[in-house]
Amino acid sequence: MLLYELDIKDIRKYIDDNKESININNTKIYLDRQKTGYGHKTLLICPKCGERRTKLYSKDNETIGLSCRSCIGTNIYKNRTDIYDEGGMALIEYKLYKLLKSIDYKRSITNKHIPFDYRFYWNCKPKYMRYNKFTLILKQLTALSAMRDTVIIQKCNYDTRYVNALLNSNSLKSLEFNEIFDAIWFHKI
Ligand SMILES: [Zn+2]
Repeated sequence: MLLYELDIKDIRKYIDDNKESININNTKIYLDRQKTGYGHKTLLICPKCGERRTKLYSKDNETIGLSCRSCIGTNIYKNRTDIYDEGGMALIEYKLYKLLKSIDYKRSITNKHIPFDYRFYWNCKPKYMRYNKFTLILKQLTALSAMRDTVIIQKCNYDTRYVNALLNSNSLKSLEFNEIFDAIWFHKI
């Protein structure tokens, strides 16, 4: 099960100081301000219980039905630890999903994101993201998708450290897109 996380830190810079609510996929989330030594801090109000929170969650990939960690009825920390699962599959999918969220994936010419095919995503660069960074993200998504295939078909196992190291390695950066699948399939990277 994937868990979507809305973190106020990620959206704070897009929110005006006097805005009272935001709309996330047709869900209205009210905001609250808490005074701090420096000014104030914006917090999200859980639509279910009304508590002020820095993070809200939903169980699906979509943000419909956002609520706080007490209301979602799932132990999110347990879910986090379940990431270290068979072959690292949930970890791989969690990372795929997080990276997809960091680009404008909705502008892709496909709605099917997993398995990931970089050819459908060239126009998904967020306005202020550098090309190098964007290209790297597409390579990381390609690599994760290739790893997912090896877990399914070859019954491979990946641990978090390996996945993170591979995603940030110079070997991945130096590969061409069409070389990534083979490099991972034949464990040359
Ligand atoms: Zn709540």
